[in-house]
Amino acid sequence: MVQYKPMAYNNIPTTRGYSLSDFHDFDTCTFKFLVKHELGKKYEIGKGSPQMALGVLLDKTIKVIHSFGEKSYNATPERLKGAVRYSAKLIIEEEKKNPKKPNFNTATVEFLNEDIFLSAENTLFNYLTQYRKLKKSLGEIKFLQRVVEIDGVKYKLWGGPDTLEEGADGLPEIVDYKSRQDIAKGKQNMDMDLMPKLYTLLMAETLLDKGHKKARFLVKYWQDPEDETFFEEFDLEKLEEVENVFKERIRKINQNKEIIFCMGQYCEACNSDKADDYVAELEKMGYKLG
Ligand SMILES: [Zn+2]
Repeated sequence: MVQYKPMAYNNIPTTRGYSLSDFHDFDTCTFKFLVKHELGKKYEIGKGSPQMALGVLLDKTIKVIHSFGEKSYNATPERLKGAVRYSAKLIIEEEKKNPKKPNFNTATVEFLNEDIFLSAENTLFNYLTQYRKLKKSLGEIKFLQRVVEIDGVKYKLWGGPDTLEEGADGLPEIVDYKSRQDIAKGKQNMDMDLMPKLYTLLMAETLLDKGHKKARFLVKYWQDPEDETFFEEFDLEKLEEVENVFKERIRKINQNKEIIFCMGQYCEACNSDKADDYVAELEKMGYKLG
């Protein structure tokens, strides 16, 4: 049995830590991955958008709603709309308080305006009206980490889904909420491979401690509340194969010494003004243009 003591995490450098977006970045653009992960320029090149800000705001709002428990579950959708502006205030405060600039919330904050508030209030109202009864929260999710050991070296997986809720059948549901303007395309591109695995792996220790042996990972769409078909169930005591998937991924990342550009129109790394500087820095670290 591996022990997850906070101390253990401190010895693992950030370059040996992987989040879901790190794996996605590596799959879509090696250069983007290297700039964000190896050079630590994640928030420097990360550009926000109104769509992204809407998603972040809605996700924060559902967490806030759940944090009020019964009070929220008995309130009308009209009343719960108030959680949107309160959540925006929290995001802005968190951004200000964070000594790291830019940080996770920086790209969002500049898009938090009246248009986004109204859009979020409408989306939330429609969601709650269609969904009728919110499932109960099984506890707030904090920042999660899990140590994995590969060939004697420790790595950490990190991140966190949005909420932990009680499913209709009593099974705990690890939920990630998604906001998608083009809902059909959003569903088509939804990662139902790595995302369910990683979030379940990260939640496993907490759930096992609470006495749960099984869990369901579930995606909820802000723009389509009735679709609960994007799920996968896991046996929390048998996650070795799931963990191996990530060990294999990290091995593959470690083996790569090439810089490959995706050249995508919207790639924040390939289109960065500083792309040449980043290449030079990576070359100094031993990476070669592919
Ligand atoms: Zn790219």
